[in-house]
Amino acid sequence: MRLIDTHCHLNDTEAFPNPSEAIAEARAAGVEKLIVIGVDTESSRLAVEIAEQHEGVYATVGWHPNYTQNFNKLELAEIEKLITHPKVVAIGEIGMDFHWDYATSDEQRSALLLQLDLAGKYEKPVVFHCREAEWFLLPILEKRIQICPKERGKWLLHCFAGSQDDAKRAIELDCMFGVDGPVTYKKADELRETIQTIGLERIVIETDAPWMTPVPHRGKRNKPAWVKHVNEGLAETFDVTPEVTARITTKNAEDFFGI
Ligand SMILES: [Zn+2]
Repeated sequence: MRLIDTHCHLNDTEAFPNPSEAIAEARAAGVEKLIVIGVDTESSRLAVEIAEQHEGVYATVGWHPNYTQNFNKLELAEIEKLITHPKVVAIGEIGMDFHWDYATSDEQRSALLLQLDLAGKYEKPVVFHCREAEWFLLPILEKRIQICPKERGKWLLHCFAGSQDDAKRAIELDCMFGVDGPVTYKKADELRETIQTIGLERIVIETDAPWMTPVPHRGKRNKPAWVKHVNEGLAETFDVTPEVTARITTKNAEDFFGI
């Protein structure tokens, strides 16, 4: 079985003081490729560094909405310097987050739009973080696709937690969806129903490690090796074998990120 962890934070130095170790452990669990996600300039640089040092490891670069109170044009220029690195596969994670209020709505939105333009300029895929903000992000994307139809098919909603209605709107935009630990939670029937309506052809799997730990390891710090539990939860959701979900989601990730 070949798996890809499309979203992990091995650049979180506190959680992963030795990323090589976590990568080796993931490999032993069938995780062939990993994507390390940037959340600001420093973590984006570190993501690229980790990707440079390991075969099958890739990076995204960008500013997470919860940090955008510190974002400005100089930081944007730093992100632009990293984009053309051969191991950078996407801009991200960027987006909107109304669960926390570290950055104002305006700060988040402004950083989002500048980074969307950057992704458009370099024709890169985008990994979105969207928490309690689908109602805000989706209209922005719906407007954008009218002006930039070329960006269709280049957007991934990581750790999707929206409603069935949100999912429907995002499918209209040709978005992909990231599924993580919560698909394995006992009480997540509503999420599983939404995932069923999305369909396997639009899904990639991810850990979001060190967060979002899947069953049966809840309460512990998450790691990329455990993406196999996410895959099992997804297989159960669709009533197919883990081999089937592994094959489809791995192909989806390879096509979307060009890896
Ligand atoms: Zn993340």
